[in-house]
Amino acid sequence: MKKIYPVCVIGGGSAGVMATHRTILNNDECLFFSGSLKDKKRSRALWVKKVENIPAHFNYQKGIEEPNAEVLKWINESPFAKNLQYKNNIGVHSIIKKDNLFEITDSKGEVYWAQYVIMCTGVMDVQPYIQGSMVPIFNYANAQTIDYCLLCDGHHVLGKKVAVIGHGNGAAWVSILLQERYNPTEFFILTNGEKPQFQEDTLKIMKLYNMKVMESPIKEILGEGKGKMLKGFVLENGETANVDISFVALGMIVYNELANELGAALDERGFVKADEAGLTSVPGLYVAGDLKANTKKQIYTAWDSAVNAANAINMKLRVERRAKFISP
Ligand SMILES: Cc1cc2nc3c(=O)[nH]c(=O)nc-3n(C[C@H](O)[C@H](O)[C@H](O)COP(=O)(O)OP(=O)(O)OC[C@H]3O[C@@H](n4cnc5c(N)ncnc54)[C@H](O)[C@@H]3O)c2cc1C
Repeated sequence: MKKIYPVCVIGGGSAGVMATHRTILNNDECLFFSGSLKDKKRSRALWVKKVENIPAHFNYQKGIEEPNAEVLKWINESPFAKNLQYKNNIGVHSIIKKDNLFEITDSKGEVYWAQYVIMCTGVMDVQPYIQGSMVPIFNYANAQTIDYCLLCDGHHVLGKKVAVIGHGNGAAWVSILLQERYNPTEFFILTNGEKPQFQEDTLKIMKLYNMKVMESPIKEILGEGKGKMLKGFVLENGETANVDISFVALGMIVYNELANELGAALDERGFVKADEAGLTSVPGLYVAGDLKANTKKQIYTAWDSAVNAANAINMKLRVERRAKFISP
């Protein structure tokens, strides 16, 4: 006799913890994989520090990890604890669908079965390479003098000198939005050795705002205090961009391997297509958070999509149980 979980949640970031929380509060049993240490390192959740764009979320040192740990502790101390099968520091290695069930193999080789899956494996921002390495950027990213997310940290550029690192038209639009919202005192766009792919209409606006495009590769980041103070970028051609803050706008890597293994439909950027409830093209497979196509890639949108998925599954489970009750 194999144990069949009604719900399995994969991923322990914003979406995964909310999906688990909602599933448990709906009184459904939940098998929850938060991800191996390797999975966690490549997730966004681990790298988010201070969260300033969500009311009452200001005081955490690690804005996703700490509240998530509090939620899981609360569940474990609540009358609903019996519903949670928490696989801490364990990731999902592979997943297949067989006889209407998901067969899930974890990173330690254990096999589990579930009726429904909420997949929340997230995305990661593409990092710039400086002299062939991503390492020079890390201290600045940790200190948030180099940022990634407009909605989270765009307000940091108010009254500052800014550089956006990127070469696509998306990077140009990030720059235009930052300029129009916060009116920084100086604006550089560093393509870091790549040919700019800015479109004609975007170029016109960039010119209007006196944005300086520099194409030479970045040779060195200037700063102090382990990234706490950014002073600028030295380029290989000897030019310097003196700035106080920078944004990286190079796109995202989508962790869609497991969804792909199940044959879920993806959009052109690799995000998993789903309806409003998060149901993908694979029956029983739901997605939530950054992995889902057409979302804002924010903590609160991850929460909302996770609640939608857990509630949609709960409705299906109740209908199935009711049917058995009516005609056993
Ligand atoms: C630097 C930075 C700052 C940010 N600041 C803010 C902010 O201030 N406000 C805001 O609203 N948003 C912010 N964001 C965006 C926010 O981090 C994301 O929108 C949010 O984390 C998305 O949640 P998620 O659960 O989809 O993905 P994540 O939080 O990235 O979680 C993904 C999870 O999946 C797990 N995982 C991956 N693969 C597997 C596997 N095979 N098996 C099991 N588990 C797996 C990982 O371990 C991880 O737990 C920021 C992002 C960055 C990069």
